[in-house]
Amino acid sequence: MIPESLKRELKSLLGDRASDHPAHLKAYSRDMWPFLLIKIQEGMNIPPPDFVVWPRTVEEVSVVLQKAADAGVPITPYGGGSGVCGGAVPEKGGIVVDLKLMRNIRMLDRESLLVEVECGYNGERFERYLQHRGLTLGHFPSSIYCSTVGGWVATRSAGQLSTLYGKIEDMVEAIEVVLPSGEVFSTRKKPRSASGPDFNQLFVGSEGVLGIITSTTLRLHNQPETRVFRGIKFKDVYAGIESIREIMQRGIKPSAVRLYDELDTLLVASDLGGEKGEKKEGFLKTLMMRAQRLALSYPSITRGLLNIVPGECLLILAFDGTSREVEWALGESLEICKEHEGVDQGEKPGIAWWKDRYKVSYNMSPVFYGGSFVDTIEVAGPWSVIPKLYDEIRKAVTRQAVILAHFSHAYPDGCSIYFTFAATGGSGEEKLKKYTDIWQAAMEACLSAGGSISHHHGVGRLKAPFVERELGGAYGILREIKKTLDPRGIMNPGVMGL
Ligand SMILES: Cc1cc2nc3c(=O)[nH]c(=O)nc-3n(C[C@H](O)[C@H](O)[C@H](O)COP(=O)(O)OP(=O)(O)OC[C@H]3O[C@@H](n4cnc5c(N)ncnc54)[C@H](O)[C@@H]3O)c2cc1C
Repeated sequence: MIPESLKRELKSLLGDRASDHPAHLKAYSRDMWPFLLIKIQEGMNIPPPDFVVWPRTVEEVSVVLQKAADAGVPITPYGGGSGVCGGAVPEKGGIVVDLKLMRNIRMLDRESLLVEVECGYNGERFERYLQHRGLTLGHFPSSIYCSTVGGWVATRSAGQLSTLYGKIEDMVEAIEVVLPSGEVFSTRKKPRSASGPDFNQLFVGSEGVLGIITSTTLRLHNQPETRVFRGIKFKDVYAGIESIREIMQRGIKPSAVRLYDELDTLLVASDLGGEKGEKKEGFLKTLMMRAQRLALSYPSITRGLLNIVPGECLLILAFDGTSREVEWALGESLEICKEHEGVDQGEKPGIAWWKDRYKVSYNMSPVFYGGSFVDTIEVAGPWSVIPKLYDEIRKAVTRQAVILAHFSHAYPDGCSIYFTFAATGGSGEEKLKKYTDIWQAAMEACLSAGGSISHHHGVGRLKAPFVERELGGAYGILREIKKTLDPRGIMNPGVMGL
């Protein structure tokens, strides 16, 4: 795929920051897409890229893209590689551009609460940099330790406090992008503007298909004076959904909203501490760890058995602000929950969740070690379709997998549903087929129910077959923009189906 002369040129430009060493190529052959994790589990081959580069400056990124465009060589932008949809997988070979060495803070404007940060900055380090200065971005994805600012912007990421601070797209004030031609494009910093369409938002969520985002200016907040938590239990998930809708539509803004369905309450929330805050081993957690394969081999029977266990649903709320603000917001929210027969559980479940908030995503490894597989499906929809979206996706998946869900990232007009499914299979090929069938069924159900196929993980390669149905006429426009900016089609070919 890549001419030897180009490799030589890149090595002379970047020195040891350019490599075709087999260990590097293997390391950059994948991101965290579970489809590929199944392949690794089964010892199957994943095609590597031909070359990896680690630029430090915009100029270096620009030269790499110019040379790749001249030679027609595919480029895969790579941040933390924590994406779960195959967006950073160099399926067509070519050059992986790892951006983690681009990690300068270019500007901090405390008066306007703005920061300009380069794309490769690690998420957790970036938030720590801000917190040392009394500031926060308010963006806390579970992958904060292993993702980059550029990756967040490229995928429209959401953090756990997004209900107050917004998703990453709400935080982007300006952007700098190296286009596939090597030209550097940037937008001006402005709080809002009416001078034509918003070009920041063209590149936010573009998943590396339109260029490489090299830096972004983000909106900041002063750290809140206080943060309080509350757990509330409901007799079923629908009473919880109604409560969240009313809270959001009454103009109350919790920083976090997480409603676990019955099974998720049993599995995850049972870990959040009982009355005294002590940890309990959930029945299903033990079941899944010890007899995972059996439970996952017969998902319908497993679900039937679990239905016998009396269900309840835990809602966790968090509020940030001054003491007076949070007191008012908490009081109003508890009133609303009470109207829906919600029972106050005090602050402990919320505090326990906050303490362990990054842990749950990493509980997936034992499932893979046990020979099974697990993945998450995060969709969104207006309140009027949320109950149907929840029911239909569960129905579509239950035949093949054990599925549970929580509702989070709430807005006055709707929310996101985050499903986790786990399944098992025979041979590697059978597992891959089952994995693909589950996704096909879930995405069909989502689109038919009127939901969006992704709230924050993006499209990547995984959801590429479904994105045209969601975007409708806009997909044709996106294709034309892609042709104009990237006539040789070098940027992340295949991602988003482009
Ligand atoms: C354990 C775990 C927990 C997670 N939790 C969350 C969560 O809470 N919220 C959430 O939103 N997501 C979550 N994710 C998904 C993932 O972390 C996010 O999608 C994240 O934004 C990806 O960032 P990254 O730097 O790892 O990007 P990568 O995985 O490297 O890349 C993602 C996509 O963006 C492109 N890209 C990366 N950098 C650039 C750039 N500078 N310019 C142009 N394109 C670029 C890549 O080509 C690829 O298409 C989680 C993933 C894991 C594994």
